Amino acid sequence: MRDLKSFYIRTYGCQMNELDSEIMIGQLQNRGLKRVYEETQADLLLFNTCSIRDLAERKVMGKIGQLGRSTKKRPIIGLTGCMAMAKKDTLFKKLPHIDFILGTNNITDLNEVLNDVINTGKQSIRTNKEFEENLDYLVAKRDDKVKAYVSIIRGCDKFCTYCVVPYTRGKEVSRPPEDIEAEVRKLAADGYKEITLLGQNVNSYGKDAPEFNCLFHDLLYRLDKIDGIERIRFLTSHPVDITLDLMYAIRDLPSACEFVHFPIQAGSDRILRKMHRIYNKTQYFEKVDQLKQIVPNASIGTDIIVGFPTETESEFLETCEVFEKINYSVAFIYTFSERKGTPAMRFKDDIPQEVKDERLKQLMGLHQMQVSKQHQDLLGQTVEVLFDKKNKNGQLKGRTRCWRKVIAEGSDSLIGTIQPVKIHSFNHQTLIGELLIKQPIS
Ligand code: SF4
Repeated sequence: MRDLKSFYIRTYGCQMNELDSEIMIGQLQNRGLKRVYEETQADLLLFNTCSIRDLAERKVMGKIGQLGRSTKKRPIIGLTGCMAMAKKDTLFKKLPHIDFILGTNNITDLNEVLNDVINTGKQSIRTNKEFEENLDYLVAKRDDKVKAYVSIIRGCDKFCTYCVVPYTRGKEVSRPPEDIEAEVRKLAADGYKEITLLGQNVNSYGKDAPEFNCLFHDLLYRLDKIDGIERIRFLTSHPVDITLDLMYAIRDLPSACEFVHFPIQAGSDRILRKMHRIYNKTQYFEKVDQLKQIVPNASIGTDIIVGFPTETESEFLETCEVFEKINYSVAFIYTFSERKGTPAMRFKDDIPQEVKDERLKQLMGLHQMQVSKQHQDLLGQTVEVLFDKKNKNGQLKGRTRCWRKVIAEGSDSLIGTIQPVKIHSFNHQTLIGELLIKQPIS
């Protein structure tokens, strides 16, 4: 029997994967394994993977393929996350040196699968299609001591035509509100100041479980009552499920941050239909207008795919017009890439890569100009910053309620505190300011 003493874990992709890794780290540490940060020192290598983009998958395949060519004593290798689901039928064939595959809905089985591999010396795979709410979130080991991710719903029922998530994570399963409250209470007791509620579509929280009698905005009201948690954020949202009740909760709850991720994905109604986003541009603008009326100081983020199959130049320009109108503070912009198993595979990926890249560059340039202008407008203003760490230059780093990055000189003792900072300058994505309280610089 192999004696495992140490593990190395590498996480690709989204915040949900980061949280899943934190849970697996906790499980392995409770088993007595020590986490190491060099692959070469580990008895177990875990790759928690992402399938959302082709590049992310290619990186993992390349990385694990390389390990198979190594002549050194081989550690146990496990692959978890979305690729485990999306490629479960071919992975052992393509990467025969992988010892186990654990799907996104089977994290709770990590120790059992590991025992299987150790006891039998054979490959093992568990990839349940649906998630069962039996995961022990309290086991998660977080590196960050100020901010924590908290899962509230897994899976997605929306089936956008380009997205693998409904196939890799299954249908929506909400977590009981009492369990979420218990975890957040523990985080508050441990000194955490900010939580980010996670789900592929947090706004549909509770719809799959009427017995909870708790929709997303109800959950926010419940969590806001927990002493010690100063800020609540949430990721990610589908515009259709962003309700007036949610907007009122953001306005009324002291802890609810005024940043809303409101991903439009494309500016053309024809492309939105092809993406199966189930809203049109007019409906989207109506919701954003409602939000701006109810929470005038809200900042808004988006995700965008440029170069979706058949997107014309003028349809791309409609996306640029949306940027002009909304003035996003945050935008995650990607070029379209085909994902196997999604309906978009049936569309011809007819936009040449150079055109996609050019649209990406153009939109990023526009967004950067808008962010610079927003930062310019903040010069001389005082913002509230929750500091969570120091950067490599020894400056305090943190974020405003609206998720803007801020750095300032200050002592370590301010990490984990919210401080007023007067903004005097900015660079690319970061505001630079001066603390309005005087603290010794450590
Ligand atoms: S709502 Fe988000 S997670 Fe769900 S299918 Fe659409 S893009 Fe994917």
